[in-house]
Amino acid sequence: MKDLAAALAALRAQHQYRSRAVVESPQGTEIVIGGTPYLSFCSNDYLGLANHPRMIAALKAGADRYGAGSGASHLVTGHQRPHHELEEALAEFTQRPCALLFSTGYMANLGVVAALAGRGDAVFEDRLNHASLLDAGLLSGARLRRYAHNDVGDLARRLSAQKNSRHAPTPGDDLASDSLLIVTDGVFSMDGDLAPLPQLADVARRHDAWLMVDDAHGFGVLGAHGRGIVEHYGLNQETVPILIGTLGKALGSFGAFVAGSEDLIEYLIQRARPYIYTTALPPAVAHATLASLRLVQEESWRREHLQQLIARFRCGAAQLGAHLLPSATPIQPLLLGDSATALAISAALRARGIYVTAIRPPTVPAGTARLRIALSAAHSETDVDRLLTALEAVL
Ligand SMILES: *Cc1c(COP(=O)(O)O)cnc(C)c1O
Repeated sequence: MKDLAAALAALRAQHQYRSRAVVESPQGTEIVIGGTPYLSFCSNDYLGLANHPRMIAALKAGADRYGAGSGASHLVTGHQRPHHELEEALAEFTQRPCALLFSTGYMANLGVVAALAGRGDAVFEDRLNHASLLDAGLLSGARLRRYAHNDVGDLARRLSAQKNSRHAPTPGDDLASDSLLIVTDGVFSMDGDLAPLPQLADVARRHDAWLMVDDAHGFGVLGAHGRGIVEHYGLNQETVPILIGTLGKALGSFGAFVAGSEDLIEYLIQRARPYIYTTALPPAVAHATLASLRLVQEESWRREHLQQLIARFRCGAAQLGAHLLPSATPIQPLLLGDSATALAISAALRARGIYVTAIRPPTVPAGTARLRIALSAAHSETDVDRLLTALEAVL
């Protein structure tokens, strides 16, 4: 049996031990931990909706009307009115025929990749894809090929190599087999940069491959209407047939969805195991997400304010000589190198009342430990200035 105590001691020695802070307040720019308030730059609540009064009211109203739990999976009796309305609203918002709700983004990724690819197929993933996408590729049983980060040339080479290694088709071969699936984060979760989606779509078309984008950090944030990375680049379902969005980040709620053609969604309902074999999320949560989707559409000032904060922060950090990664999104990583340094800077900021978690391997590659600074539309310019002042003192 594995010696767990020794494994934990090793993690501590490598500065990789993780522990959880118990937050005693709602999510927001100020969070309370151990009775102490901190100005927080950690949350993925990019639009400041997680504690919005309209969402809280919708959550309560949903619970009053539909109860606390869904009681069953979607295919049994768990698919309630708010789930269905949310799917219709998400399809309309993403300008696709259909959308399918999943309980989490992790499960959506496992479900979609493993339903579309299997033995005999190949899945191509960006090296820096989110863990759930890599796990999905492994779970699928397809050959998993990881290409260099945002390197479309490397992807194209690997696609060609894969094609050349295929056997000549023999009579009776299943024509549906041998699919190629390209999978990428939209906004890379620890770096904040965007996938080169138009070029990826081009390569996918040339190689007759599916293209799937996980827009967990772009949905609600990117594009004039907040429709995400597909809107940002002016693409559509033709070029990006499989869109994943999550609802626990910019939408401030919980859950995830996939949007695409009617056939895609119908197929997933039949075949995506993490959709079929799990309890539907609470109907009140879907009801609250409907309210947040309306806020995303009505309050474009949140995206505009966020862009101003991003520009202000980057300008101030450049003056400090801080090593920021090139990112135009609310994810602003400050690269520090080794885990011990990242932990020390994070602790020094905390001593000044500012909460920014250190992100270490294996979440990021070795030698690239960082502070992942996340900005939110709920932050003020004064909040950003306080962060810059504190960084100046501790760096
Ligand atoms: C957060 C995240 C997920 C997981 O979504 P959950 O709804 O939190 O399970 C998937 N993909 C990416 C890129 C993410 O950042």
